[in-house]
Amino acid sequence: MISSLNPGDNRIFIGTNLSVMKPESFWRALVVLGAVLAAGAACSPKGAVDPAIPADKTMEAKVEQVLKGMTLEEKAGQLVQINISALEDRTREALDPAKLDRVIGQYKVGSILNVMHDRAHSREQTAAMVRQIQDYSMEKLGIPCIYGLDMIHGATYLTDGSFFPQEINLGATFNREYAAMMGHALAYETRAAQVPWVFSPVMDLGRDPRWPRQWESWGEDPYLQAEMARTETLAIQGTDPNHIDLEHAAVSIKHFMGYGVPLTGKDRTPAYIAGNDLREKYFRPFLECFRAGALTAMVNSASINGIPTHANRLLLTGWVKEQLGWDGMLVTDWADIDNLYTRDHVAADKREAVKMGINAGIDMIMDPYDPACCELIVDLARSGEIPMSRIDDAVRRVLRLKVRLGLFEHPSWDAEYPEFASPAFREQSYAAALESEVLLKNEGVLPLKGTERILVTGPNANSLRALNGGWSYTWQGAADDFVPQYNTVFEALRERFGKVVYEPGVTYSGGAWQSEDASGIGRAVAAARGVDVIVACVGENSYCETPGNMDDLNLSANQKELVRRLAATGKPLILVLNEGRPRIIGDIEPLAAAVVDVMLPSNYGGDALAALLSGDENFSGRLPFTYPKHINALHTYDYKVSEHREMMEGAYNYDAVMDVQWPFGFGLSYTEFSYAGLRVEGPVQFGPEDVLAVCVDVTNSGPRAGKEAVLLYSSDLVASLIPDVRRLRGFEKVSLEPGETRTVRFELPAKELAFVGADGKWRLEEGDFRLSCGGLGVLVHCNRTRVWDTPNL
Ligand code: BGC
Repeated sequence: MISSLNPGDNRIFIGTNLSVMKPESFWRALVVLGAVLAAGAACSPKGAVDPAIPADKTMEAKVEQVLKGMTLEEKAGQLVQINISALEDRTREALDPAKLDRVIGQYKVGSILNVMHDRAHSREQTAAMVRQIQDYSMEKLGIPCIYGLDMIHGATYLTDGSFFPQEINLGATFNREYAAMMGHALAYETRAAQVPWVFSPVMDLGRDPRWPRQWESWGEDPYLQAEMARTETLAIQGTDPNHIDLEHAAVSIKHFMGYGVPLTGKDRTPAYIAGNDLREKYFRPFLECFRAGALTAMVNSASINGIPTHANRLLLTGWVKEQLGWDGMLVTDWADIDNLYTRDHVAADKREAVKMGINAGIDMIMDPYDPACCELIVDLARSGEIPMSRIDDAVRRVLRLKVRLGLFEHPSWDAEYPEFASPAFREQSYAAALESEVLLKNEGVLPLKGTERILVTGPNANSLRALNGGWSYTWQGAADDFVPQYNTVFEALRERFGKVVYEPGVTYSGGAWQSEDASGIGRAVAAARGVDVIVACVGENSYCETPGNMDDLNLSANQKELVRRLAATGKPLILVLNEGRPRIIGDIEPLAAAVVDVMLPSNYGGDALAALLSGDENFSGRLPFTYPKHINALHTYDYKVSEHREMMEGAYNYDAVMDVQWPFGFGLSYTEFSYAGLRVEGPVQFGPEDVLAVCVDVTNSGPRAGKEAVLLYSSDLVASLIPDVRRLRGFEKVSLEPGETRTVRFELPAKELAFVGADGKWRLEEGDFRLSCGGLGVLVHCNRTRVWDTPNL
C-alpha cells in the first residue's frame, strides 16, 4: 500500500514491495506513483523560504509555554474539531451538558463548528451558545476553544446578519471593492456573534460548470480568483495576521486545491490535473492568500491524480508549509479522514487514515460526529507511528492560531458592534447585486418603458431561496423561511412597475431541489396573452455540495417547454437566468428578446434586477466563466491555441471549434464604451525583471452613465509548451459619464507572463507577446529567456 510521504522528507515513500503485489494492485500503485511524480514535477525542492507570515517572538513564547504544560491527551484534543450536533440537545435549542462534558471534558476537543439544529440562529443566540462552550473549555482545559462557521456570502449563518451576493456574482462585478466590503461585513458580524473563524473565502477554480459548487467560487480564472480572494482575505483578517482584533476573524481558505474540476463533474470525485497547471493555475489563488497572511486552509475533499489530497504530503507539507515557510494551520474538510478508508481505499481503517493524514500535514481533523478519534491520535503518538515532533508541530499551529486571535486573553468578549446589520452593509449588498447581474442579450426590449403590463413567470420568479442559493440560513439554502421581508423578483417588479401578473407555470415542487411541477404551464401561457412583455425567471433551485450533483447541464425540459410555449404567444420574452452554474439554453436562447444572468444575487437581487430592467440603473456585470452552448463543448476561455481550428490541416481534416454561448468576460450595457490608444509606456522590448506599464483610453461613447470592466489579456505567441490562447492579466472597473474618457493604466510585471514548463519550472521565454484590451492589441517582445529555480515567483 502506498502511504503518504515521510514527515520531514520530500521523497515518495512506498510501503509495499511492488514485486509481491497482485497484478491489479501493482498497476494501481504505478498509476498512483505516476500521479505523485506528475504533481511533483511542478515542484522544485529548492525554494526560498520567506515566511508567509512574519514570526512574532512573544506569540511563540506563549505557544511554547502552553504546549509545555499539556498532556498527550490534551494535545490530541486540540487536533480534533467536532460538529455542534455532537453537543446539542436535540429536543430544544440548548447544549446538552452531558455531551458538552464528553466532548470537551473527557476528550478535550479544541474546536467546534457549525450551527445548532442545522439552521441559522440570531447573533444573540449564537453568541450565548459559543460563550457557554468557551466558559467550559476554559474551566476544563484552560485553553480556549476555536469556533468556526461557514460564512460564505456574508454572515450566512446568522438570521439577522448581512448577506451579499454569492462569490460568483462578486466575480462578475470585476470590482475588488465588493470583495473587500463583503469580507469586512462578514468578519465583523461573525465576531459580533462571538465566533472568530470563518471557512471562507472559497477559491476553487470554477472551470467545470457540471460541478455543483461553481457558484461558491469567483469563476474560472486564476488571476480573478486570486485578486478577489486575496482582497477578501485581507478584509476578513485585517493587515496584521499576528494580531487579529475583535472586528476581524481568521479565514480558512478553501479547498486546497484542485477541488473544482472532478473528471466526472460530480462533487468529491477525483480530479486529474497536469503538474504544471496545478502550480500555475490552481495554486495561484492560494499562494496569493497565503502571502496575504491567511491563517488557516481547508483541504480539498477529493483527490488529484490518484492521491487523496488529505494524504498528499507533497502538497500539504511540501508546497505550503516548507516552500512558503507558512506557520498556519491545515484543517480537513468534513469527515475526510474517514474518506481515506471508506471512499478512497488508500487506508485500511480509521487508525491508518488518521496516521496518513496527520503525517501528510493535517493539523486539525474535522471529525464531525465523534471525538473518539482523539484516542487514535494518542495511540499513534505513543507507538511512534506519528512522531511526537509532528504532533507538537500540529498542536503549535492550533495554539498559534488561538494566540493570534487573542482567544487566550479574551475567550469571550464584550465589544460593541454598532455596525451589525447596518444600512451601510445593506446598501453595499444592493450595489454589489447591481454590478453583478449580467446582461447577455438585448434586442431593444430593455430598458422597459415602465408602462408595460408584465407577466412574471418561471419557478424562480417568487423565490428568495433561489435568489440566495445554498449556504443561506441553512446548508442547502432556505431563505424564504427566514427572511420573507426581502423582495423576490416578482415582488420587486410589482413594486417598481405596478402592472405585474405572476403565474409561475413551473414550480419547484419540494423534495429534491430538481423536482418540478409543470402543471401550470397552460395557465402561464394564458396569462401571457394579456400582457405586453414576459419576464421568465428560470434556472435552478438552491443546493449545495454533493446534493447538487446532476446528470444533465441542460436547463430542465419543463422550463424549456415553458419558455417555448410562452415565446409562441409572440410576446417579447426576457429570460432571467437565476442559477448557480450555466445551464445550457442553446435551443431556447433564440426565442428570447433579452437575456439576463443574475446568478445568485442574494436578498437584494430582485430589487437590483427591477432597477436594471427599468433602466434606472445600468448593467456592468460580466461573466466570470464561459457560458457553454453544447454539453460536449465545455471550455474555459484560456484554452490551448490548438483547441480551436476551424478545419485542421493534414490527413485528419476534422473541425475543432470553440462554440460557446457567451465567452468569459462578456456582458452588455445600456451605453457603449470605445477603446483607443492601447500602448506600453516606454520600450516594447522588455526583460524578465521589468514591469510593463500598459495604458488604454476608455470612453463612454453612448448616451448614459455606466461602469465598464476593463480587462487586460496577454497571449504568448510562441512557447515551448502549447500556449493558452490568452490569459487575464489585469482588470479595473471604471465609472464614466456619457462622453467621458479615462486612461486606465495597468502595471504588469513581466514575470506574470511566465508559465510552468514541462520540467516544472517557471519560465519566461524570449519572443513576442500580444497584449489585448477592448478589442485592441499591441505587440511586445521579451528579449531574454529566464528560468526560475524557485517553486513560486
Ligand atoms: C464543505 C466545506 C465546509 C465544511 C464545514 C464541508 O462539507 O465541503 O466547504 O466548510 O463542510 O461545514
